[in-house]
Amino acid sequence: MTTSAPLALPGYAHVYSGKVRDLYAPLDASTGKPRADQLLLVASDRISAYDFVLDTPIPDKGKVLTQLSLWWFEQLEDLVPNHVVSTEVPAEVDGRAVLVRRLEMLPVECVARAYLTGGGLGEYRETGTVSGLRLPEGLVDGSRLPEPVFTPSTKAPVGEHDQPMPYAAVEAAIGPALAARVRDLTTAILARGNEIAAERGILIADTKVEFGLDADGTVLLADEVLTPDSSRFWPADEWEPGHPQPSYDKQFVRDWLTSPASGWDRSADTPPPALPDQVVEQTRAKYVEAYERLTRRRLG
Ligand code: ATP
Ligand code: MG
Repeated sequence: MTTSAPLALPGYAHVYSGKVRDLYAPLDASTGKPRADQLLLVASDRISAYDFVLDTPIPDKGKVLTQLSLWWFEQLEDLVPNHVVSTEVPAEVDGRAVLVRRLEMLPVECVARAYLTGGGLGEYRETGTVSGLRLPEGLVDGSRLPEPVFTPSTKAPVGEHDQPMPYAAVEAAIGPALAARVRDLTTAILARGNEIAAERGILIADTKVEFGLDADGTVLLADEVLTPDSSRFWPADEWEPGHPQPSYDKQFVRDWLTSPASGWDRSADTPPPALPDQVVEQTRAKYVEAYERLTRRRLG
């Protein structure tokens, strides 16, 4: 949850702020009341690390997340419908906001992994499985998996960590048919993402997507998709299994926060300090580079 006050946007009522996004309901022109069927999703420049929202924004980050998601929604349109209604938004948030259909969000973080690292690697080392699925022997940090696997997690309340969710728990939460549908969609999105990204020199190690239901019960892709916040992007030419890979995400931020230079003690549960300009600039450059390499467009 952010400490900064959300913008006052004429014609919209603020409904919620997550770590990165501020959500508004458009006001109905005739009644002046918030509409229940749409949301304005505004991506801020806030960055989170180690479950803290940092005090220092990353310029253009909200624009990158919004524009990259819009581009991916188009690339994925034949696989899955999405929540986008319009990119005509108030001038104050132009470029970093999108008007969407307000959906009943499924209570599952839909994660798929194409390469082994992070939490998936931890489970594999202990049990030889990822999300309960047996994998071949001999895989190491950064290994490509035979095919993308679905490794869902819970949507933790603000301030808490997401927990791995066994597939049976997803079935219990949303029913077996929906569980199978979002599993297949999530792995298909990552596979398609990697087909496209590979031509552009990027590997997508893993990603998290969120789905919602419309009033007819149709499953739509919502939130953000295949961004550096929701995914691990690796430069393909530097990929070398056996150790942690360089990445396009918050690596500069995490490296600095955990270095002696920051003076921050991660275990002390105190908020992290402000980021130095150089870390801000390096991080901004990585976000913009991910956008420009993937879309082959300049960030306008
Ligand atoms: P949290 O919601 O736990 O704070 P977060 O920090 O990732 O998670 P943000 O990404 O900042 O949250 O905010 C986006 C919020 O908007 C998420 O809760 C997401 O589920 C929700 N959301 C995204 N798309 C839609 C949609 N079409 N309809 C309803 N809610 C949506
Ligand atoms: Mg989010």
